[in-house]
Amino acid sequence: MAKIETQDKYDVIVIGGGPAGYESAIRCAQLGLNTAVVEKWIGKAGTYALGGTCLNVGCIPSKALLESSHLYEEAKHDFELHGIKAKGIEIDVPTMIARKDKVVKELTGGIEQLFKANGITWLKGHGKVLADKQVEVTTGDSSESGETYVVDADNVIIATGSSPVEIPPAPFDGEFIVDSTGALDFPDTPKTLGVIGAGVIGLELGSVWRRLGAEVTVIEAMDDFLAMADKAIAKDAQRQFKKQGLDIRLGARLTGTEIVGKGKNKQVEITYSDAKGERKQRFDKLIVAVGRRPFTDGLFTSNAELERDERGFMLVDNQCRTSVPGIYAIGDVVRGPMLAHKGMEEGVMVAEIIAGEHAQVNYDTVPNVIYTYPEIAWVGKTEEELKAANVEYKSGAFPMAASGRAKAANATDGQVKILSDVKTDRILGMHIICANASEMIAQGVIAMEFGSSTEDLQLTMFAHPTLSEAVHEAALAVDGRPIHIAAKRPRK
Ligand code: FAD
Ligand code: AMP
Repeated sequence: MAKIETQDKYDVIVIGGGPAGYESAIRCAQLGLNTAVVEKWIGKAGTYALGGTCLNVGCIPSKALLESSHLYEEAKHDFELHGIKAKGIEIDVPTMIARKDKVVKELTGGIEQLFKANGITWLKGHGKVLADKQVEVTTGDSSESGETYVVDADNVIIATGSSPVEIPPAPFDGEFIVDSTGALDFPDTPKTLGVIGAGVIGLELGSVWRRLGAEVTVIEAMDDFLAMADKAIAKDAQRQFKKQGLDIRLGARLTGTEIVGKGKNKQVEITYSDAKGERKQRFDKLIVAVGRRPFTDGLFTSNAELERDERGFMLVDNQCRTSVPGIYAIGDVVRGPMLAHKGMEEGVMVAEIIAGEHAQVNYDTVPNVIYTYPEIAWVGKTEEELKAANVEYKSGAFPMAASGRAKAANATDGQVKILSDVKTDRILGMHIICANASEMIAQGVIAMEFGSSTEDLQLTMFAHPTLSEAVHEAALAVDGRPIHIAAKRPRK
């Protein structure tokens, strides 16, 4: 193909300014590479924004709402326990949403500042990969939306992320049937809320609106709850969520939806099938959170298509190289867990490889977190995975109910569980369900990254009183010698 006249040439062009793309661009710039990022996101304010799904409609806004709703629930139900008398506690949803929007705006603006500070060029618009590592940029948020120009690069990094899956029985209408983005912006608390999918996003957003007073029903097709988590932790979580009033129906598959009623009484009626047959239920709002798909819409011209797998993920090797030399793909658009930090690490790795350094990502130590209450977090293998792989393991657990700090903080729900290799004592997995599990899991990640044994954790001094002492105690429990619970013989 004849080369198109271009405006500029870069060492690296990153397509997509989400966490994978922006971290990659910053690392490229740090390494002296002349870098541009093509990003088309148009934010709530109607202006271009960096940060992708994570900052605009994902990790950050969901955590802002989880924080607000947790505070509200604590004020309503737990303050009294501490002797704090507060009357007339109410939630003003528009103020809560406005705070969330402010957090998003400050953080996305912060990435823009970091780009300026690092000399990264932001090409605002939609990027399309042409042959010969040329990228066509169209202003606006699609390949048909505006003026077009072409830029040249020695290396292209595709970081175009993912979008919510829409299923035929529940087409999004933006009002009654919404995706995760719609669920971040309800104008008021719905009285009744249906959530399709008991995955991470469904549980987090379902929790937000339940805390604010919605009656929440979660419909999940699979028979097992949180099948990807360690079974003991998933069982604990299911019990806690039930106690909180989340109505989780397992083995229930959504088959249809219909908007019923008139005017203010309009609702969405769902049809789902479970072991007992077909059932119907009405809700004020329905969140469909059945997963995300890799986003590559309008990304390639016909003669520059890159290989994708049957589910649409860009095919890459262990170091995120596509089949075309000089073109890489990172983040949600490639295999592996759809998590911001996984994409960020891939972005840094690719930048360093382009700069001629040695780099790799340790996919065995990617932490997983569910920001419900209690939080759920894990790293490494589950007990079920070790059994299936015929690995000889030992296990130790410590209940938060036996932690002094947890008692003082009224946070006694949950446990820490550690799995280690019988022969080498090496830690194979850490599984936590408790307040602050998202912070505590870093201890497991560091331990596993350093190839630590259970004994290393046993010999480490933990500050008292802290929730993290439960990690120490769980490590002691692996060898049947925890201090603050009656010792159990180690499980072989
Ligand atoms: P994205 O963040 O999706 O960014 C891709 C960017 O590419 C977008 O800005 C898009 O506009 C741009 N783009 C796409 N195509 C083009 C094109 N052709 N030209 C120009 N630009 C383009 N993960 C966590 O780790 N922790 C969490 O707590 C968490 N919470 C979440 C909560 C919710 C509600 C959701 C929806 C997701 C959550 N995630 C969380 C997942 C996380 O958001 C993603 O894993 C992460 O954003 C993926 O990063 P990425 O850079 O690969 O893609
Ligand atoms: P995740 O991929 O973690 O976001 O979770 C999505 C969840 O949605 C999975 O647990 C799926 O089993 C579930 N799911 C997918 N389709 C349906 C459906 N039609 N009805 C109910 N649950 C579904």
